[in-house]
Amino acid sequence: MAREILDSILNDIASDEKVVFQNQLQELLNLAHQPLDLQHFLNDFLFRSCQLFAANAGVIWFADEAKSRLEAKAEVHIEHLLLDDETHLAHDQLLRDGMSLTSSVVVKPFSAIAPQATSCNPTDSFLVLGPVRIANHTLALVELVLGPKPLRGQTTELQTAYGRWLDYVLASLSDGIERRFLRASATLTPALDRLRAVSDEVQDIQQMILKRVEQSLQAFAGMNFGTLKSNQEFANSVHALLDRHGFRVICPECGAPAILRCQKAGNSKSGAFVFDHYLETGRTFHGGPSTFPNVKLTTKPPRRKRGS
Ligand SMILES: [Zn+2]
Repeated sequence: MAREILDSILNDIASDEKVVFQNQLQELLNLAHQPLDLQHFLNDFLFRSCQLFAANAGVIWFADEAKSRLEAKAEVHIEHLLLDDETHLAHDQLLRDGMSLTSSVVVKPFSAIAPQATSCNPTDSFLVLGPVRIANHTLALVELVLGPKPLRGQTTELQTAYGRWLDYVLASLSDGIERRFLRASATLTPALDRLRAVSDEVQDIQQMILKRVEQSLQAFAGMNFGTLKSNQEFANSVHALLDRHGFRVICPECGAPAILRCQKAGNSKSGAFVFDHYLETGRTFHGGPSTFPNVKLTTKPPRRKRGS
């Protein structure tokens, strides 16, 4: 199809011009793959598009999220598009409607953008408006100012071809923009690798802390602080310290991560140290020595899912 559009345009052009034209087009299409940053790519693309379409001026407009404001990200000889306050507003409206286009159009001087459309071209120039679309979303709008008597594309037939042809060219523009956005996100992989390395390092440090805390707690093995209240206070303090670092004690009976508590027990006045944990059968207490046990630590398991 592209070939067909191109031929219909080239028919209109003197044969010596055709070579120049085709070379210009090829250079334009190659741009997307050049190592240019986004701004240079847009500048270069617009400049060459103006050459190709024999346009006096051109702008690449980008919309903000709400499409309420359009910002010129690249411009060529925009001084040729002289607008007073009134035409400026009308031109803004034209651009906003242009953002809703799904394909390029040529808008004649002082004419509506489409039949029944409210916005119109307020200038005496032929304007080509082409939406730059990525994944069905209009990201930008290319505006080419052809002047009151365009060098190329004077007949209605040619204007239609111009629109279709700009679509073809703009596919390469959106490709180039996408590549540059993707290139920006390509640094995600090394960033994730670095994050993983940091995470490994933190895990190593956490293991060192775990061993250090474990050693300290093992020094209390066999101790009893005399009363239930004192033993509970000690057990609570131990748990607070462990919880702060994401640790749990390992139940010596079943090996599950547990919280060490001191509870009232039948005949012991100072209570018993128990391992409190949720097993498949529900909340369970294991153990029950009357003195502080020789604890081993583990990291806290992920939070249990509701209902499981
Ligand atoms: Zn247990």
